[in-house]
Amino acid sequence: MPDPIFPRLALIGIGLIGSSIALAARKTGVGRHVAIHTRSEKTLRRAEELKLGDSYHGTAAAAAADADGVIICVPVGVSGEVTASFAGALKPGAIVSDVGSVKASVVAQMKPHIPDGVHFVPAHPVAGTEYSGPDAGFAELYVNRWCILTPPPDTDPAAVGRLGDFWRALGANVEVMNPEHHDLVLAITSHVPHLIAYNIVGTAADLETVTRSEVMKFSAGGFRDFTRIAASDPTMWRDVFLNNREAVLEMLGRFNEDLSALQRSIRWGDGDALFKLFTRTRDIRRGIIAAGQETPIPDFGRPHGADKAKA
Ligand code: NAP
Repeated sequence: MPDPIFPRLALIGIGLIGSSIALAARKTGVGRHVAIHTRSEKTLRRAEELKLGDSYHGTAAAAAADADGVIICVPVGVSGEVTASFAGALKPGAIVSDVGSVKASVVAQMKPHIPDGVHFVPAHPVAGTEYSGPDAGFAELYVNRWCILTPPPDTDPAAVGRLGDFWRALGANVEVMNPEHHDLVLAITSHVPHLIAYNIVGTAADLETVTRSEVMKFSAGGFRDFTRIAASDPTMWRDVFLNNREAVLEMLGRFNEDLSALQRSIRWGDGDALFKLFTRTRDIRRGIIAAGQETPIPDFGRPHGADKAKA
């Protein structure tokens, strides 16, 4: 095993994202001792049963004491209060980070609590699933996914480099951005798509002329792909929208304009406009596959070529 990047790594919050970090850190040896704290006794005991860490703590301060790296993995709306709960226990030179899907708000919440002599390097691993809790984690979650670091301008470059090395060791590609730009990019690539999924599934659930059983029965027409995204954790996503309000509203404005244009094309029978757009969007999908961020194999539990070959 190589030298650990964080001899003692503390994880505060141990759901999907925290448990995946724990498993990957242990597998790769980047954290020699993984100390875990989470809000509830039940989740802490489950983390212990799953052997996610080396020590389990009833307070965040006990987990963070003497840690070289502390990563908070909690809903973004509580980033500030969670940081305040362990800030006094941090040793000089430690690196504090997070995994929040929103960055400007998280930086504003956390930074005031970071003591002098402690480094603060916010991060967002752009990887996840629709599942939550410590049972949902797996060590490969971050492999070939992006992790975006958004350090404040005065951050020690060596600390940024060290956290970047940590994420690279977990298999991620690392990029540095400012928090506001991160929030705009993620608004269109992640937050608005989730909102659309929540909305369409909600609309279908409310329809009176189409029964609920018909929605389930004929879901393969595209609807079920939205239901996977719309099954994502309600607390996490509520916090994302409340904490990335400006960027989401800006992107929704653009989205609504483009939707109106599409509506007009349908109303006036402008097949050329529809065909042109659908051709461009297919190219985007092909670009994502070519970039290694998706496979061309149909997913969502459908039997596909590879499964059939094994059967
Ligand atoms: P999760 O599986 O639901 O786990 C949430 C963790 O946060 C649990 O340890 C939970 O503790 C704790 N927690 C919940 N509410 C809390 C509160 N009010 N105060 C203190 N702790 C609280 O969530 P996750 O998917 O790992 O997401 C964690 C973070 O990762 C979020 O900031 C999210 O934006 C970010 N993220 C998520 C994804 C994704 O796809 N899921 C991807 C990238 C980044 P108990 O169980 O002990 O109550």
